[in-house]
Formats: sequence, structure tokens, C-alpha cells
Amino acid sequence: MSETSLCPTPRTRIRRHPERGSYETAEIHAILDEAYLCTVAFHDGETAHAIPTACWREGSHLYIHGSNGSRLLRALADGAPSCVSVTHLDGLVFARSAFHHSMNYRSVALYGRFEAVQGEAKRRAISAFMAHLTPERADQIRAADEQELAATTVLRIAIDEAVAKRRSGPPVERAGDEALPVWSGVVPLKLTRGEPVPAPPQEVENA
Ligand SMILES: Cc1cc2nc3c(=O)[nH]c(=O)nc-3n(C[C@H](O)[C@H](O)[C@H](O)COP(=O)(O)OP(=O)(O)OC[C@H]3O[C@@H](n4cnc5c(N)ncnc54)[C@H](O)[C@@H]3O)c2cc1C
Repeated sequence: MSETSLCPTPRTRIRRHPERGSYETAEIHAILDEAYLCTVAFHDGETAHAIPTACWREGSHLYIHGSNGSRLLRALADGAPSCVSVTHLDGLVFARSAFHHSMNYRSVALYGRFEAVQGEAKRRAISAFMAHLTPERADQIRAADEQELAATTVLRIAIDEAVAKRRSGPPVERAGDEALPVWSGVVPLKLTRGEPVPAPPQEVENA
């Protein structure tokens, strides 16, 4: 592993379309940084699960958080091996044959075990999560109190066994299909922020 690139491992070596793969940390980090959620796969001893949850990156770790009561967080805190995936769907690729339809995307697969984040680092991690949602947020809101902090588990996984894969560009057609009288091309897709809707006056939770 160098500072700018991760080493492929038996789990992360891309065999199918290896030219679409990348082990560059800058590319892996960029894909993770654009994500608000990841899917965490793990095995609880009986069966496999793949659970979506919010995530954010700080340095060379990806973070998740949740209630102490979450099975996902308890299993991961206990050291269950996991695989985390993040995907951005960038476009639907329409070819002139069903076989050659495709999707444009950027995705990451990340392997390892999570570890618990405690103490001041936990508080900092939650602030980083708020900043990930919108930069100035962490300085404006009420910080978590001791009770809220104690009820929350924060976990992190090192980004050191990971791989990115992406597809971009137009469809690839079979020779001869280009004459078929049907549209082909890419319909771009994008996750965008809509117009903010202010919250109505609310009932407050009883302490
Ligand atoms: C939006 C989207 C749509 C897709 N649609 C299809 C489809 O319809 N049919 C299809 O066959 N494939 C599709 N893919 C590609 C799919 O994710 C796999 O890359 C592909 O199926 C090959 O899987 P494999 O396990 O044989 O790959 P292998 O090359 O054997 O995988 C080896 C390792 O490479 C890594 N890897 C594989 N795929 C990815 C990935 N996408 N992102 C990050 N790391 C990866 C993992 O670490 C994996 O263990 C799609 C991907 C995306 C993101």
C-alpha cells in the first residue's frame, strides 16, 4: 500500500472488467465523500444481512452511528467481519439491444471490521457527521448531551482494504445494431438537493 493507492487483496481484486476498477485512495475517498449512506453487509452467525445506514468519512476511516440497541451496530461492535458498499448511479445506458443496456456508476466496496469510537473522539465524529450533512450545521445546533451520547454507538472502519469501480460513457453496441431505428444513449441521473422546506411548529419530546 502506498499513500495514494491501496493494494488489491483476494477480496478486492476486480476480475470482471478490471479496467473499470481503481485502488487510488483519492478516487475511493471522493466516492465515499459524496455518499450520505452506505450498505453494510455482515453475517450474524445464522444468515447474511445487508443493511443501509448513514455514513461519513474522516481521514482514513468511514464512520457509522446509531442506537446502542441496533443489532447491526452491536454485531459490528462485537467484531463481525463486514463489507460496506457505496454506489452513485450516474445514468441509465440505453443500447439498441437488451443485452447491451447498462448503467453508469461509481461504487466502492470496503472490507474489514468496525471498531467503537469513544470519548472525545465520539463527540468529534458526531460533529463531523453534522458537517457532512451541511458544513455550518455543527456550530449552530445543540450538541449531544451526555445521555444522548451514551445512547449512541459510533463505529469506524479503516479504509485500507477497498476498491472503486466505475462505468461511464455511451452504450457499447454489437456490430450491425447501429443501423437499428431505435434511440440509444445515456439518460444521466443525479442526486440533488431540493428546495428546503422549513419545519412546522412542533410538539417537543418529553424529557
Ligand atoms: C448501478 C450498478 C448496476 C450494475 N448492474 C449490473 C448488472 O446488471 N449485471 C452485472 O453483472 N453487473 C452489474 N453491475 C456490476 C456489479 O457491481 C459487479 O461489478 C459485476 O456483477 C461483477 O461482479 P463479480 O462479483 O463477478 O466481480 P469480480 O470482479 O469477481 O469482483 C471482485 C471484487 O471486486 C470488487 N467489486 C466488484 N464489483 C464492484 C463494484 N461494482 N464496486 C466496487 N467493487 C466491486 C469486490 O471487492 C469484489 O469482491 C452493476 C453495478 C452497479 C454499481
